[in-house]
Amino acid sequence: MGERLRNWAGNIEFNAARVHRPGSVEQVQEIVAATEKVRVLGTGHSFNTIADTDADLVSVAGLPADIRIDADGGTVSVAGGVRYGELARKLDAEGYALHNLGSLPHISVAGAVATGTHGSGVRLGNLATAVAGVDIVAGSGELVSLRRGDPEFDGAVVALGALGVVVRVTLDIQPRYQISQHVYERLPRAQLDAHWDEIASAGYSVSLFTGWHGDTVDQVWVKRRDEDAPAPPELFGAVAAPGKRHPIAVMSPEHCTEQGGVPGPWHERLPHFKLEFTPSSGEELQSEYFVARADAVAAFAAVERVRDLVTPALQISEIRTIAEDALWLSPHFGRDSVALHFTWVPNLDLVLRAVDALEEALAPYAPRPHWGKVFRSAPAYPRGRDFAALAARMDPAGAFRNAFVERHLAAE
Ligand SMILES: Cc1cc2nc3c(=O)[nH]c(=O)nc-3n(C[C@H](O)[C@H](O)[C@H](O)COP(=O)(O)OP(=O)(O)OC[C@H]3O[C@@H](n4cnc5c(N)ncnc54)[C@H](O)[C@@H]3O)c2cc1C
Repeated sequence: MGERLRNWAGNIEFNAARVHRPGSVEQVQEIVAATEKVRVLGTGHSFNTIADTDADLVSVAGLPADIRIDADGGTVSVAGGVRYGELARKLDAEGYALHNLGSLPHISVAGAVATGTHGSGVRLGNLATAVAGVDIVAGSGELVSLRRGDPEFDGAVVALGALGVVVRVTLDIQPRYQISQHVYERLPRAQLDAHWDEIASAGYSVSLFTGWHGDTVDQVWVKRRDEDAPAPPELFGAVAAPGKRHPIAVMSPEHCTEQGGVPGPWHERLPHFKLEFTPSSGEELQSEYFVARADAVAAFAAVERVRDLVTPALQISEIRTIAEDALWLSPHFGRDSVALHFTWVPNLDLVLRAVDALEEALAPYAPRPHWGKVFRSAPAYPRGRDFAALAARMDPAGAFRNAFVERHLAAE
């Protein structure tokens, strides 16, 4: 093939024999109808082979964005390949907002939704929970529309690209709002255990950053909406940072979103990094595990027990929360979750050693991995069999199944 595509991190070279860049839904339908094996590529921000294929790869980046706001219905509908940053700017300009965002605005809506991508907030579901409808070009090229409330809708949202090409996504919107962001430093480790629920609930969206190395948690980022309680000068012994901070304390905070309690539009505070900043690729790998929020304190101790295997590969960990949902393959299905995220150095050997140690240490808490990051094994999901039946109906010939899907959904 003439074109060798890589993912954002550069650790995966896609094996696709052919890459298609359709400019219309009709072209997507023609490509799918004419191919035996096909996968979809969003913006390629996943760290594993989830999007890979040795046959045909369809990039949705070239579909016209076609952002349509339905003010009466409280929704926006967009082409699947639209990036959150572009959508957020348009929504904000029209007076609207999404309920949450991930840490990076450069990721496509359909790709993020397909893996259950999330931000943080004890009352906030992952980004897929905002999906009110999906239009999918299924196995034989037909266009299938599913809306929230349809019997199989909950199976078709976090779908790992295994049902077809999501050409349009409809998302819930709300009136635009302001967020102010405060960063606290050096949270005493013992306070995290003693006050976990209060700390996780200290704002609309809360993230903790730690290297798991000592008696303190490095930073707590608290993002508040106007109606939240005012920011206290101290947070359970953590002190307000005197200046702007990067999650990795030694790095320049230049590209981070505004801190210090300065209110600003939702989309300029919920991500940690500014939209104008395009992070260079290939400098990190990532893993993330979700356990029940009620098991968070025990899970922190479990990570610390394998600290010696984790820290050699680690740049920084982020701890976030996600409200439970009903989406069949969502890592947050049926349980309020805490996310234990690891930004690794780009050394796969070290990372896999750490991942093995983490999966064993967290096993008592039934961890579910982030579908788009580096992991070894995923558990069976409660609605996994229903998903397999849905996939068999939408894609009877298994055109959209790849090795990743076979491996991780084979037991369903
Ligand atoms: C720097 C960085 C920061 C990140 N931050 C976060 C974060 O804050 N929170 C979090 O949860 N995750 C985060 N992630 C992970 C990321 O959100 C997921 O990997 C996400 O799936 C990537 O979206 P994508 O468009 O790049 O999808 P891809 O990696 O291109 O594809 C992922 C999956 O989605 C499928 N897919 C993509 N588009 C379509 C479509 N149109 N129709 C059907 N299936 C489709 C693919 O087939 C594949 O199975 C981060 C990743 C990076 C690199």
